[in-house]
Amino acid sequence: MFNSDFLSPFAVKKDYQNSPASHRILSDSFLSELYSKIPKLRHTQISAEDFHDLIRDFFSFREVEDLLIICIKYLKWEGLHDISESLHPEIVLPIDANNDVISKKIKNILGRKTYFTACLECNRFLPTFHAPGSTCYSCLEINHGLIF
Ligand SMILES: [Zn+2]
Repeated sequence: MFNSDFLSPFAVKKDYQNSPASHRILSDSFLSELYSKIPKLRHTQISAEDFHDLIRDFFSFREVEDLLIICIKYLKWEGLHDISESLHPEIVLPIDANNDVISKKIKNILGRKTYFTACLECNRFLPTFHAPGSTCYSCLEINHGLIF
């Protein structure tokens, strides 16, 4: 039985980082289905293939006992040249949650500006970390002459 008391992020924190990844979600078939369920993405510059990479690179799906924990890889500048990377548990679901439920949760996270955005200039969909102020680093370099 799914125990909702377990939903507290503190409880989740204990062991999710070392628990096994859920391969079901990272499969091509799941990700293709997910891509097709987010029509908004097709208005941005992200191919299905790039979308698969984005999910595999910036999400982590962990199985902890009877729970599925959806985590985001959160990147942050620490000083001028150092980037810190941490896993943020965002969503906790029963491990047998169906594809529709999981897709909805991922879609919700993809819609959060804190984590993901579409570049205002080239319209690429990418982690917000790579597009500070909603303009990506390539556009800042190419269109505005900034050097990083
Ligand atoms: Zn751009």
